[in-house]
Formats: sequence, structure tokens, C-alpha cells
Amino acid sequence: MITICVASGKGGAGKTSIAAALAAMARPTCVFADCDVDAANGAIALGAATTAREPYFAGPGFMINSEICTGCGLCEASCRFAAIRSEGDPPRFMIVSELCERCGACYERCPIKAVVTYEKTAGELFVSTTRLGIAIVHAELVPGEDTSGKLVRKVRERAQAIAGEHATIIVDAPPGIGCPVIASISGCDLIIVVVEASASGIRDAERLAKLIVSMGRRTIAIINKAGLNPDMDARARDMLKAMGIPLAGEMPFHPSLRSAEESGETWMTVDSVARHSVASALRAIQGLIDSIGDGSRVAAIEEEKP
Ligand code: SF4
Ligand code: SF4
Repeated sequence: MITICVASGKGGAGKTSIAAALAAMARPTCVFADCDVDAANGAIALGAATTAREPYFAGPGFMINSEICTGCGLCEASCRFAAIRSEGDPPRFMIVSELCERCGACYERCPIKAVVTYEKTAGELFVSTTRLGIAIVHAELVPGEDTSGKLVRKVRERAQAIAGEHATIIVDAPPGIGCPVIASISGCDLIIVVVEASASGIRDAERLAKLIVSMGRRTIAIINKAGLNPDMDARARDMLKAMGIPLAGEMPFHPSLRSAEESGETWMTVDSVARHSVASALRAIQGLIDSIGDGSRVAAIEEEKP
């Protein structure tokens, strides 16, 4: 089994499109793990239909049992996050779940155990099949929940459980360099950094590259939306060179790639000069995957026709 993570630092850099193209290459022995749990779009990119779903529990939530609460207010005084409110006379106390950090202080403080715990649903995990014939594991975190790293781990664990011994897992990482990104990168055999050839794209990719280098992961890069601004292309190349990250190739900014995305196709199906660049970059990645060599293999890249 080989796990390849596609990350970019910046949102909208083309990470999911490149991950989807890799998945198209790697079928049928591929599982796609969409770890962008705050804004998953891999299922859309791959035309997925959900076959199984399950709730995601991040840990206990807290609530007040109003049947036995005496209204003493000790819980409110113990909450450092102003998550306990009262209303009426005599006061009736309640916990605002959106503000609750689940520290448990009120639970400990209540003298009569009127603060109780419950299993709080923090999101949902889905397994879907795609029109490519591969499985995708994806998830949705409830807005305001802060356990995205834990949910990323669940997505990856489920993808591993579905994947066979010789399967390739394509991990689509969220943007940024925070906890869910680290959870997406950890333990992967290869990280592909997608650098958007723009000032913000290069800056965010550089921050990500520093993180990956500090984690000691095998890394390769793709410059996306190349050709619009030669200065930006050069800056992206210079940044990667300074970081010691090999460049697999440059994807041009081409209308056919955008059209493919909008019609729910992967970049492997484009019928234009852009296809040569896509195939060339993916072939370089193929070579690196082969060099990792545990028997896993993505399918041969067919440059002429998908
Ligand atoms: S668990 Fe902590 S944050 Fe939540 S209401 Fe109780 S004291 Fe406040
Ligand atoms: S500490 Fe307990 S009894 Fe007092 S107001 Fe809070 S929940 Fe009610």
C-alpha cells in the first residue's frame, strides 16, 4: 500500500483536481481520502454517490438537567468561556453548545451533578463510489467544531480499511498548515505540493513546504496555473529550489482544464495541448511512486486517450 498526499497550503490552488487526476490514473486499485473535512469537494470532483454514512462523535458534550438544577449559578461562575447563560426569575441555566469548549469545569463544579454529558455529534463520515469505479471516503464537520484533525484521522483509517494490500490511497489534504494538514501528511509515503503560480500561492506553499521538510517526508512539487505570469513561474521555481523540493512538472492555465472541472471530469480526460503537461507531470510522479516500490502501482499513463 502506498499513500500519496496532495497538499497546497492555499485553497483553490488546484489540489483536488490534481488529486482526482492521480486517482483516475491509479484506478481501480485506489481509494480517495478527502481530508478537507471543513469543505470537502472530492466527491463532487469525482462524481460520487454515497453508499454508507455514519455519525462522527468527537467526545462528550455537556448539558444541564433542568429537572434537578437548583439555580445556584456555581457552574456559570466556573465557565471561563461564557458558555453558560441564564434566563428568567428564578434563573434557569443552560449551556450554549456553540460556545462550549468542553473543558468539563462546570461538570466538576456542580454540587448535585445536574451538569450531565451526552454523546455529541460533531460531523458525519461518508463512503461513496465514484464514476471512476473507485471508493472515496469523505466527511463533513459541523460548523464551529474544532476536532478536524481527529476527523481527518478517521477518514484515513477508513480509507486504509477499504484499500487492499496493494492499493494506492490518494489523500486530498485541506489548505493551511494546521492540525488537519499535519494529520493528512503524517505517515504518507509521498507528498505532492501544488504551488499556484501567484504571490499568495507561492507564499502559502512555502509555509507548507517548511512544515513538510520539518516532518522529513518525501516530497515533490507541481506548479499549477503556470504561464500566466512568467515572473511568478520563476519565483515558484526558485522557492522550490531553495527548499530542495524536486519539480515534477508545470500545469498550464488552460480553459480545457477548467471546463473538465466544471463538467465533473478529471484532468485525465482533457483533449487539448494541456493534456501533454498533465501527463508529463503525472509521469514524473509515477516514476517516484515506482521507486518507492512496495508492489503498489498506478496504471500506465495513456497520453493519447484516457
Ligand atoms: S464544559 Fe467548560 S466550556 Fe463548556 S459550559 Fe462547562 S465550563 Fe463552560
Ligand atoms: S451548578 Fe448545578 S445546580 Fe447550580 S446552576 Fe449549575 S447546574 Fe444548576
